[in-house]
Amino acid sequence: MLFLDGIGLGEDAPNTNPFAIAHMPTLTNLTNNQRWLKSTGKQRTKRALFIPTDARLGVAGRPQSGTGQAAILTGLNVPQMTGKHYGPKPDAQTRAILNETNFFKQVVEGNKRAALLEAYPPRWHVGINSGKRLRASYQQAPHAAGLPTFGIENYRAGEALSGDWTGEGWRTHLGFDDVPVYSPYEAGLKLVELSQRYDFAFHSHWMTDLVGHRGPLEDAVKLLETFDQVMAGVLDAWDDRDGVVIITSDHGNMEAIGDRRHTLNDVPTLIIGEQKDVFEDLTDLTDIVPCMQQLLLP
Ligand SMILES: [Zn+2]
Repeated sequence: MLFLDGIGLGEDAPNTNPFAIAHMPTLTNLTNNQRWLKSTGKQRTKRALFIPTDARLGVAGRPQSGTGQAAILTGLNVPQMTGKHYGPKPDAQTRAILNETNFFKQVVEGNKRAALLEAYPPRWHVGINSGKRLRASYQQAPHAAGLPTFGIENYRAGEALSGDWTGEGWRTHLGFDDVPVYSPYEAGLKLVELSQRYDFAFHSHWMTDLVGHRGPLEDAVKLLETFDQVMAGVLDAWDDRDGVVIITSDHGNMEAIGDRRHTLNDVPTLIIGEQKDVFEDLTDLTDIVPCMQQLLLP
């Protein structure tokens, strides 16, 4: 599963929606050359199924990361259970739900292998271990399953990828001049190589949400074009008979640059692989886990 934080299906607005202008040949090829917009609707191609997905879940207010990610990873309507959309980090009630049940945990209990594929820098681990930093919901879920969170040593060893796909941020923002950097295409190949070590592998990219809040539009376009090249690598390496690749998000945001808030839009869910039809009836974020259970934990 390739999770991109805060991407929704917005208006065909070239001045505010990067999806309306970014050059995304790989991704739009999977949606009958339709850009990923509010008007796109459900699309089916030979390799993929594209389904606009409800992140609002019948709960008033703007969908948030903590409860949205928890819904994706538990299959439960966490905003409804906790009474609100909440984030960015999960509140105590959401954490308790994730600790009780989540897809990582179910996979591990089914004697299968699961992993959160991205590595976190030393200062993230220091923050977590000191109790000063809370895990995001998608980090809490594998933690509750007893799985490790990868660090710089795993990244150096080629056992994990960077959240920004290429690892460029480790050099430019974190100051690690000697860590591996991949081209976006190579990062896509690497994602598939790593995912083949597990039955369920999850990669999270959070910069889409950050850029959604602060802009500018050019940064958002660049992120999407980078992701498109990552996906070119993924599609070249992925064998459609081997299972499914799922792209999804927790709430809209980056499709409305300048608003700074999350949106009420549907989010895109794309399923690639021969078994994509299992996801045919997906309508909201809680429907993903039951489909994955059908594939992996029958
Ligand atoms: Zn989010």
